[in-house]
Amino acid sequence: MKQVEPHVFLLARPAINDEGLAAYLRAVGATGWGTDAPSGAEKLVEVAGRSCYRSFEPGLNPNVTRIREGSKTYLENILNVKHGSVIEHASWTFAFFNVSRVFTHELVRHRAGTAISQESLRFVRLTEVGMWVPPEIRDNPEALAIFEEAVAKTEEAQQRLAEVLGIEGRPFHEKKVLTSAMRRVAPDGVATTIIWTANARTLRWVIEARTEPGAEVEIRMVFGKVADIMKKEAPHLFGDFTPIPLPDGTCQWKPEHSKV
Ligand SMILES: Cc1cc2nc3c(=O)[nH]c(=O)nc-3n(C[C@H](O)[C@H](O)[C@H](O)COP(=O)(O)OP(=O)(O)OC[C@H]3O[C@@H](n4cnc5c(N)ncnc54)[C@H](O)[C@@H]3O)c2cc1C
Repeated sequence: MKQVEPHVFLLARPAINDEGLAAYLRAVGATGWGTDAPSGAEKLVEVAGRSCYRSFEPGLNPNVTRIREGSKTYLENILNVKHGSVIEHASWTFAFFNVSRVFTHELVRHRAGTAISQESLRFVRLTEVGMWVPPEIRDNPEALAIFEEAVAKTEEAQQRLAEVLGIEGRPFHEKKVLTSAMRRVAPDGVATTIIWTANARTLRWVIEARTEPGAEVEIRMVFGKVADIMKKEAPHLFGDFTPIPLPDGTCQWKPEHSKV
């Protein structure tokens, strides 16, 4: 058994196409508009929101005589009035690496606003089994010994099945069928990878739901890392999240504006 730690890698973030945005602002008559948004994501969400009422400057729409100035004030109001569809324009992509299938089963329950690519255990054959060991087991030598023994037996079963089924040297499509059959004795805790894209609305909700004290410790730990990243990535979209330390060393990330 190889002990592993879950990692979160941010792979992609929104970027503004300056040329296209300038052309749109010219078309709508808002050439003087600018923003102090700290990121492309926040700029994109602000443009999308302001386009609804043409509230780039007073008078552009004769019904609008006053506008909210500045990225922070503007986006704070979006969150406050729960105009959540506007923040769906900005998406980020993460690699969750060395997470368990326990984690991925829970993650994929969040359907709205996501895209998912998961490592296939039909194609990727298990040899050494990577495991993140929960603290309750890691800190109890007797429990850890039982845990390690069970994983070692799984690894042995994978090796013996590979031998008995004669997997080596077969064509790729046959290996796939056999690998898929063999994975049925893989443990739920096996370390794997999932690539996950989510928009700001989804991210806010999943951080809130999956860091609450009742959530499973691994997903809380991972979404604590995501919250930390997002607060720095887009402070005006995630700045209202506060970490509240929990007894197990993780944090609940509580937003001022719940489920936008
Ligand atoms: C602490 C905790 C414990 C859990 N325990 C269990 C458990 O024991 N068993 C179990 O099966 N699951 C459990 N879950 C999973 C939970 O039931 C949800 O499936 C999961 O959190 C996904 O959240 P969501 O339903 O908000 O969906 P998301 O896909 O995250 O959607 C976000 C929001 O969009 C809206 N939405 C999405 N899809 C629809 C739709 N089809 N129709 C209408 N509105 C929609 C809803 O407002 C929804 O809240 C648990 C979750 C947590 C956080």
